[in-house]
Amino acid sequence: MFDHQALIEKSKQYLWLPFTQMKDYDQHPLIIASGEGVCLTDTQGKSYYDGFSSVWLNVHGHRKAELDEAIRKQLELIAHSTLLGMTNVPATLLAEKLVEITPPGLTRVFYSDSGAEAVEIALKMAFQYWQNIGQKEKQTFITMKNGYHGDTIGAVSVGAIDLFHQIYQPLLFKSFKVPYPYVYRHPSRDREQCKQDCLQALHHVLQEHHQQVAALIVEPMIQGAGGMITMPPGFLSEVARLCREFDVLLICDEVATGFGRTGRMFACEHEAVRPDIMTVAKGITGGYLPIAATLTTETIYEAFYADYTELKTFFHGHSYTGNQLGCAVALANLELFERENLVEQVAEKAAFIAPLLQELASLDHVGEVRQIGLMAGVELVQDKETRQPFAWENRMGYRVSLKMRELGMLTRPMGDVLVFMPPLCSTREELQEMISIMRQAIEQVT
Ligand code: PLP
Repeated sequence: MFDHQALIEKSKQYLWLPFTQMKDYDQHPLIIASGEGVCLTDTQGKSYYDGFSSVWLNVHGHRKAELDEAIRKQLELIAHSTLLGMTNVPATLLAEKLVEITPPGLTRVFYSDSGAEAVEIALKMAFQYWQNIGQKEKQTFITMKNGYHGDTIGAVSVGAIDLFHQIYQPLLFKSFKVPYPYVYRHPSRDREQCKQDCLQALHHVLQEHHQQVAALIVEPMIQGAGGMITMPPGFLSEVARLCREFDVLLICDEVATGFGRTGRMFACEHEAVRPDIMTVAKGITGGYLPIAATLTTETIYEAFYADYTELKTFFHGHSYTGNQLGCAVALANLELFERENLVEQVAEKAAFIAPLLQELASLDHVGEVRQIGLMAGVELVQDKETRQPFAWENRMGYRVSLKMRELGMLTRPMGDVLVFMPPLCSTREELQEMISIMRQAIEQVT
């Protein structure tokens, strides 16, 4: 059906892919031609499990009839009109739905097109909120070490993964980076000790600097791109409490964790945390189209609501904000969540795979397996006793992931942490097979 070889040559000649060393791509090119359920098929007809939900966003599988139909129906009306100064039908209905399903207190929805933009908006919104109410010195942010919030300059400024972010340092605004409870790498390896140390460090920064801090941004319950690092229980709720105590806004970045991924609709529900601002993207459209949103409270919204001449308007927007096709498919996605009781199903599937994943921990070079819901990471190490990582140049995570590709599953590692984030609709059999592929790949490569 496709001229595979010609397409490969064109891809090598014309494309520059995101987060990709093109020298690697040239050695291992891959072009996806179609998808069905939890599988993707390349231009040669080889099928793969979508073991990372096409970068953490697919929910109901590919070519889900109800989602396809929602886009077709919307196309018969209109594909896109602007949200500047007006709205459209699906964007309005989706906003109502988002307010209904997100934690209490979030009452306003500001759309954008990607997770990074949703974060960018959250930062500007928090910053301007304090300006608008006259607390002009609150201009900076607190973020967690190893955190990831996207790749635009604002999002990178509150990011803290040196490999991705260090080179842009001169372009970034400063933020306070506090330690994240990475228990496996804490000298004590003790969950409670690690949690207390991190909370103490945060407390210290807040005590010293809260008058200059607009907001703290955090990935709730698990750092994704930082290496699938789960938080000890009680950490997030304590962070939220400290933010309140020191009058610092809390931004929960649910771009990766939102929409059922962790076994709750939103990860902050695990600890009944109510953020002042929440960012969502990825799973919002079931993995179909690029819609994102920043939700906030009435208090923050009201600080912007004034006569135009007071200059309190939020001067931010993108051409495709609130796109009708995206919002229509997002609504259909959320209907399916309800109809299929998907969040409960995720919790059950997570419990089913937990022992299977933990079995991987017995392998010679698996240091730790971390999981919340259908979001898991397998940290590979050179030496299990000492937790010594593989030499960086070894690219162990990358090599194991390439082996998985050969064996029929696609995923992308974060360094030497293998990522397992299957579509939420995956059946038990499919989950079992995917974990088995991961096991074989680890055994064959490490
Ligand atoms: N925030 C978090 C927590 C993420 O994991 C990501 C992407 O992985 C982003 C923001 C950026 O989202 P996007 O890739 O849609 O810009």
